[in-house]
Amino acid sequence: MRRWSGDYEREAVMRGAVIHGPGDVRIEERPEPGIVEAGDAVIRVVATCVCGSDLWSYRGIDQVRRPRPMGHEYVGVVEEVGKQVASVRPGQFVVGSFFASDNTCPVCRAGYQSACQNRVHMGECQAERIRVPMADGTLVATPEQPAAELVPSLLAVSDVMGTGWYAAVAAEVRPGATVAVVGDGAVGLCGVLAARELGAERIIAMSRHEPRQRLAREFGATDVVAERGDEGVARVKELTGGVGADCVLECVGTDESMRQALRSTRPGGNIGFVGLPHKVDIPGKELFASLIALRGGPAPVRRFLPDLITRVFDGRIDPGRVFDMTLPLAEVAEAYRAMDERRAVKVLLQP
Ligand SMILES: [Zn+2]
Repeated sequence: MRRWSGDYEREAVMRGAVIHGPGDVRIEERPEPGIVEAGDAVIRVVATCVCGSDLWSYRGIDQVRRPRPMGHEYVGVVEEVGKQVASVRPGQFVVGSFFASDNTCPVCRAGYQSACQNRVHMGECQAERIRVPMADGTLVATPEQPAAELVPSLLAVSDVMGTGWYAAVAAEVRPGATVAVVGDGAVGLCGVLAARELGAERIIAMSRHEPRQRLAREFGATDVVAERGDEGVARVKELTGGVGADCVLECVGTDESMRQALRSTRPGGNIGFVGLPHKVDIPGKELFASLIALRGGPAPVRRFLPDLITRVFDGRIDPGRVFDMTLPLAEVAEAYRAMDERRAVKVLLQP
């Protein structure tokens, strides 16, 4: 509630998604956001979406103790800014990420804005309007108003593409590298695209769903492995002369996927892990013996925004293709259902 900041005197309301419990997401009236701090911006959300991580609550794996707003992916148009905001102005189209960050503290300057000393989680974005704290540090304006067909790709940049990119950077993907991607959700698919952009020579996508395999190939995968677990590991070894991949992108976050990533990496290789871990238990001795380097965590998407926005505008990348369903925000319940039932990889919502 503390970030709702509504102008209660006017009792202005807008609509946004609220989760009440497992399988129960509703569109409800919520207080209209307004400027609270001088560094805030209010943006009218043009597109938002449902994240794979939203399903942890939807499926009851993460407990929902009380009703709370949902959504952390957004692009939109600035409606209002606080007195201190200098880098964005009303009318501009902006992309932000799931953590607001000052972009000036020592952690941000090191490139890890998702661990900003003043970070604020953006958790209310499946809505018509949102307040963005630290707008100068958080938001990046596009060079011009994007054509409608670019909006899905810009939205993807705000989370899944930024996260896939970070996975590839964390796994130290370099020109000529052999890369394996564990996970064929939106982040894994974007990881394939990132590996291609960073010059990987061989990209092995691990996927057993035909439409996802197809998109992975279009994004740059040279090989697809449908097997999982030990069999999946054996296939990756087979494809890499028995050695394993130089770089592995772990984009799921389960114990099985993490082990699969560890065992698919060549000795001394690198893993970028961006799947939010659930009950992951990394075997210490195995990790020690493997000489593998691990880097992961919530992606510092802000670091990559200017570059990724440019790549979208230049037509180099089209990560918006991970959205295979578009619904009005009013049908948010159906969006969660479709993703839960795997009828959709990722659903774009239009307020
Ligand atoms: Zn910071």
